[in-house]
Amino acid sequence: ANKAVLGPLVGAVDQGTSSTRFLVFNSKTAELLSHHQVELKQEFPKEGWVEQDPKEILNSVYECIEKTCEKLGQLNIDISNIKAIGVSNQRETTVVWDKLTGEPLYNAVVWLDLRTQSTVENLSKRIPGNNNFVKSKTGLPLSTYFSAVKLRWLLDNVRKVQKAVEEERALFGTVDSWLIWCLTGGANGGVHCTDVTNASRTMLFNIHSLEWDKELCEFFEIPMKILPNVRSSSEIYGLMKISHSLKAGALEGVPISGCLGDQSAALVGQMCFQDGQAKNTYGTGCFLLCNTGRKCVFSEHGLLTTVAYKLGRDKPVYYALEGSVAIAGAVVRWLRDNLGIIKTSEEIEKLAKEVGTSYGCYFVPAFSGLYAPYWEPSARGIICGLTQFTNRCHIAFAALEAVCFQTREILDAMNRDCGMPLRHLQVDGGMTNNKILMQLQADILYIPVVKPSMPETTALGAAMAAGAAEGVGVWSLDPEDLSAVTVERFEPQINAEESEIRYSTWKKAVMKSMGWVT
Ligand code: ADP
Repeated sequence: ANKAVLGPLVGAVDQGTSSTRFLVFNSKTAELLSHHQVELKQEFPKEGWVEQDPKEILNSVYECIEKTCEKLGQLNIDISNIKAIGVSNQRETTVVWDKLTGEPLYNAVVWLDLRTQSTVENLSKRIPGNNNFVKSKTGLPLSTYFSAVKLRWLLDNVRKVQKAVEEERALFGTVDSWLIWCLTGGANGGVHCTDVTNASRTMLFNIHSLEWDKELCEFFEIPMKILPNVRSSSEIYGLMKISHSLKAGALEGVPISGCLGDQSAALVGQMCFQDGQAKNTYGTGCFLLCNTGRKCVFSEHGLLTTVAYKLGRDKPVYYALEGSVAIAGAVVRWLRDNLGIIKTSEEIEKLAKEVGTSYGCYFVPAFSGLYAPYWEPSARGIICGLTQFTNRCHIAFAALEAVCFQTREILDAMNRDCGMPLRHLQVDGGMTNNKILMQLQADILYIPVVKPSMPETTALGAAMAAGAAEGVGVWSLDPEDLSAVTVERFEPQINAEESEIRYSTWKKAVMKSMGWVT
């Protein structure tokens, strides 16, 4: 059979906390041609600890690439049309591996992990100068969330890591670095790099000078020689070299030329290139990012300042304000895996629909403390307002409502920091398939919620960055060439007063969740 004739194609690895995907887009139309997804295990070896196996992450990428290539074959699409590959990834998650053997020296410590709480407390007692030392350089509060303290913990507690550092065999990276190193040859010449967006989440990176910060590395006692090279988000880092993995070897020699942390990738994929444009992604956690252009805006209301993207070596850097919520989709997974009241994540919609209200039940899923705008590590999850009447449907509804209330809190903070309220909210992520959630969100924010009909915006952003890179040049980022996105809209349906009452009760519940552990 004749192979279908198409323009150049671009692949994207979307390595999230819950799952890995590989997706292939047509660079001329941004159309998604095929994809494959694999759900990932998470390990909880102790209370508050969250780990993943770096090898499993890598193998899931190989599997997704292979299966997607197979599916393209079935569609009669020639995979030699794939001209570039982009990577987007769960941010902050920390991997240390041996550059001689290619073996990870410990499990990946996932961003949600809380084991570094005492590390953070000890460090905060000896911050040099004023309390702004970390924040003014990195845009981040000193928190368990970011990589530097996770790496500190590994250096303090894992003998294999200490030994490899002494013997100059250790490499550190976030998941993007780990994957790019492996995909470009691993122990046989793999490229050890990261991009500015991922670097900006380590708490070791100076977001003004765009370099690893010597003073921060001294403060956290991190040897700078184990850090990856920091590159822009769109340039050729290296070529695919995975011949040992049989079928994925099909992409041998294709440049990896885009790299963005997942939230930055979604911002790009949602085409939020203008100052003041924002998107909210509902995955494991929930992340609202607002492009602030070329200026670094520091929040007065608990938001982070972060690198949005730098799409080319000679292109300017753009910044964003970010509201991060640790637990969103993860609460649905918890209801599935820990309580067993649903068998699949999608089923929560059916339960919530059955009752259409939480009946006064509020669920604060502060499993990993509270992130924005509170940054309160002492918080723990609570379900309150229970009566004899409450059933699993109400709890399911309250869980969805919690995601919406948390978003409302960061949107309020964003509006205060930016001075110009958002008139609608652009959304994406796995949870946005849930129509009840989307309607609730519009009701609770009291502004329309707008969802692109092609929801894979994170992968799209990584593909755009890869396709636009110098030396690839198959994707134009010129606003005139970017096709208009078709969307689904959810308009607020309840009145503002009712919405306010529910929101203020939520805040009462949040107060009760705090100070639970000391
Ligand atoms: P990540 O990028 O963090 O891996 P995804 O964007 O893939 O996350 O979204 C997966 C998360 O969304 C999971 O936590 C899952 O429980 C949740 N989820 C997926 N589908 C639904 C749904 N229909 N309703 C509610 N939650 C959902």
